[in-house]
Amino acid sequence: MSLDADLQALVRTIPDHPKPGIQFRDISTLLLDGPGFAEAIDRMAASIAGEGTQLVAGIEARGFVFAAGLAYKLKCGLLMLRKPGKLPGARIGVDYALEYGTDRLEMHADACGEGMRVALVDDLIATGGTALAAVELLRQAGAVIDTATFVIDLPELGGAEKLREAGVTVHHLIEFDGH
Ligand code: AMP
Repeated sequence: MSLDADLQALVRTIPDHPKPGIQFRDISTLLLDGPGFAEAIDRMAASIAGEGTQLVAGIEARGFVFAAGLAYKLKCGLLMLRKPGKLPGARIGVDYALEYGTDRLEMHADACGEGMRVALVDDLIATGGTALAAVELLRQAGAVIDTATFVIDLPELGGAEKLREAGVTVHHLIEFDGH
C-alpha cells in the first residue's frame, strides 16, 4: 500500500467516462469526505512548503478547489487559469492540442509580476497537455514556475515526465495504473 492509500480509497473510479476505455478518476467523493479533503490539502501543502511560493495557479475547474485550499494554507495568492471567454480583463492565452481538437487556457495579463514564484495546481495529470500549456502561459507572463502539485498522477500517460523535462518538479499524492 502506498503512503496515500487512505486518500486513494476516497477517489471513485467511473469506467468508460467520458468515453469507452477511459477510467474517470472522480475526486468529488474525496471532496465529500471532510477529513480526507483536509488531509489532501495538508499533504499537497507539505509537498511544496519551503519553496517560497508567492502564488498558486489553479487550472479550471477542479484545480481551483485544491488551489484555494493551498492558497489559504500557504497564505499566498491564487491565480486562476481559465477556459476561454471567462475572464473580464485584458488577458493572454495559450492554445493546446487535445486528442480531438484544441483547447485554450487564459489568464489576466497583469495577474503575475515578473519573476514571481508560482506553483501549478490541478486535480490530475494525464498526458500533461493541459499542465504544459499552463506552464507556457505562466512563463510568458514572467512567472518562475518550477513546481507543480497534483492529487493524482497517471504515470503511464507520461505527463509528469514531460513536465519534468520542462524543468518543473512534480508532486502528487496518488497514482493509478493505465488511463
Ligand atoms: P491532460 O492534459 O491529459 O494531462 O489531462 C488533464 C486534465 O484532464 C485534468 O484537468 C483532469 O482533470 C482531466 N483528466 C484527464 N484524464 C482524466 C481521468 N482519467 N480522470 C479524471 N480526470 C481526467
